[in-house]
Amino acid sequence: MDDCDLGSKHDDFFRRQALAKHLNRQSSGRSMVECSECGEGIPEARRKAVPGCVRCVKCETKFERRS
Ligand SMILES: [Zn+2]
Repeated sequence: MDDCDLGSKHDDFFRRQALAKHLNRQSSGRSMVECSECGEGIPEARRKAVPGCVRCVKCETKFERRS
């Protein structure tokens, strides 16, 4: 019984940690890992250079021309 309880607390702890990490990653810059237009991966360098970018270079260029 005690072992079981400890196990579930452990699980909860790790789940919270994973969630916190996930939220941190999302709130810092809010850049997308994948382009919202074509779904291609956005290079980390670009995500760092342009915080909050949601498109790859190709799609961003297209988008800027369109608007
Ligand atoms: Zn794209």
